[in-house]
Amino acid sequence: MAGAHGWRVRILQTSNLHHAGPSHRGPGAPRSYAPRDAEACPLTGLLRDHLDEFIAGCDDDQRPLPRFVDRQLRAITTCGDLTHGFVRLECTSCRGPRVVPFSCKVRLCPSCAGRRMNEQAAHLVDRVLPQVPYRQWVLTLPGELARVVAFDGELSTAVFGVFADELSRWQRERANDLGIADPQTGSLLEIQRFADGARLYPHAHAVVPDGVFVASSDGESAHFIRQDPPSDADVAHVVSRVEQRLTRVLARWRAGRHRDSAHDSEDTDILPVCAEVRPTEFVRLVSQHESEQGRPAPKKPLCARSPGGLELHAEVTIAAHDRKGLERLCRYLSRPPIPQDRLERRADGKYVLSLKRTWKGGVKAIVFEPLDLIARLAALVPAPYLALRRFHGVFAPHHTLRALIVPTPSADSPVPIAPMRPGRMSWGDLLMRVWTIDALKCPHCGGRMRVIAAIHDPDAITAILAAVHSERWVIPATGPPIDSPLAALAAA
Ligand SMILES: [Zn+2]
Ligand SMILES: [Zn+2]
Repeated sequence: MAGAHGWRVRILQTSNLHHAGPSHRGPGAPRSYAPRDAEACPLTGLLRDHLDEFIAGCDDDQRPLPRFVDRQLRAITTCGDLTHGFVRLECTSCRGPRVVPFSCKVRLCPSCAGRRMNEQAAHLVDRVLPQVPYRQWVLTLPGELARVVAFDGELSTAVFGVFADELSRWQRERANDLGIADPQTGSLLEIQRFADGARLYPHAHAVVPDGVFVASSDGESAHFIRQDPPSDADVAHVVSRVEQRLTRVLARWRAGRHRDSAHDSEDTDILPVCAEVRPTEFVRLVSQHESEQGRPAPKKPLCARSPGGLELHAEVTIAAHDRKGLERLCRYLSRPPIPQDRLERRADGKYVLSLKRTWKGGVKAIVFEPLDLIARLAALVPAPYLALRRFHGVFAPHHTLRALIVPTPSADSPVPIAPMRPGRMSWGDLLMRVWTIDALKCPHCGGRMRVIAAIHDPDAITAILAAVHSERWVIPATGPPIDSPLAALAAA
């Protein structure tokens, strides 16, 4: 039928959601899915209204925005917009139609990053990280170094590679002290480019088993040996070793830069400037009691600072049985820089970004002119060639122990299981797993919807939207269900 109209149509894989019985559901029955209202997303609105002006300003200053930044920011403006295409569904009972807009899949897009965050966390917990205790090690860099690392992919890889290496070395040395032969370590390393308040702030989170793996003599199996938690002195020891090695890495990098002055890529020239743009206003808490919360916290355990200003934190742990906690931590690793619920457009047209934690002096939110906020966003867009997640040691794709230690999800799991390859979880399964939202439940009769096709053709888009919005199928407006649970997850 569709083909006869010359529509560009691709049949999509339908979800296996209809197999989920009532016992598989969380508290209460799943809600049916209502597509997100893209107009309601302040960040999308900001870019739709001001991106062209921002880009024109960069051109006027003779400092054009790099193409990859332009492309990604522009993609966000079409995300969730039905007029750019959608997936068409139809109810198998009442034939009621439904359309779900395409998403942009850009890291900075609050709704796409939200989906990505959940999908990747499910994959890590179901398919990569075995049931052992974990510790999160976080390395932050002093300001000057952070600013350089932010726009130099090679240096970033080298710096954070040293970090993963030194963690592994420290674990192996301790295992050797106990007489453990050939201990194997592993870590999941996530490089984050930002901190609270849309600040450019490259730092790394390493999720590391609190112990080592040892292969059996026949190589057919592996077991885990738990290690004692680190002491404050251990954390200080690791960070000072990282600093020693970085001193050499940076010396080589500087020498390399002098030889190759073309390294100063014009391509990203404007981005460091963008990163430095200041908010126009700081919103403070007024009460004395609350502003006291902004004071620097007392020294925390398992945190150490090297003389050069590197900081290492190792106080967060996840027990072996706490798989939910591990999934939460993994979600946190790939959270979007600006969660949807933290940004608001004020009546005067400025944007208010609320902070996760109150800053010094009781600052709880910062305010930006639209173009300034776009500048901050531009600096956060990662270059396309940057790998922000790395698997080290036993978690590396070709490590001989990997197959022996990764979890094997059971077939009768109560929640949909992530597929072997990341990013392949069906959209319906994902909504069900994370939000207990049933994307395939008909909003008209409660029957099952099936996916018919992906629609790209402008004429087809107009025709189908007219049918969906006809009186016969009009649905009373309800709030978009994704936003608030997503926001809660992102804030967790
Ligand atoms: Zn998007
Ligand atoms: Zn129906």
